[in-house]
Amino acid sequence: MSNTSAQETLLKARAKLLNELGTLSQLLHGSWVERYSVCSRAGCKCHRGERHGPRHYLVVNEAGRQRQKYIPNSQADMAMKGIAQYRRLLEIADQITQLNLALLRENAHANR
Ligand SMILES: [Zn+2]
Repeated sequence: MSNTSAQETLLKARAKLLNELGTLSQLLHGSWVERYSVCSRAGCKCHRGERHGPRHYLVVNEAGRQRQKYIPNSQADMAMKGIAQYRRLLEIADQITQLNLALLRENAHANR
């Protein structure tokens, strides 16, 4: 009996995490980069230290190559949220791994 309830607790915890995975729809896997730049206009203030920016980029991996994707400022908050969701995805994967390992142990007990 105690085996069954332990198993139920694990299954419930796993179901909750699997459910949360479904909420991570904005996830982005990449590194956030902020850049300030100098333009080619003669006499622009950027040549006197007031550089343009920040401009935001997400560095992503595409078929083994690093690519910088420009993110408009209006989308910066959304993109940062997406990066946070990716971190959460990894946490959830680790937590589900622990639960599944515990379930494997539970099943081994049940079959003894
Ligand atoms: Zn300039």
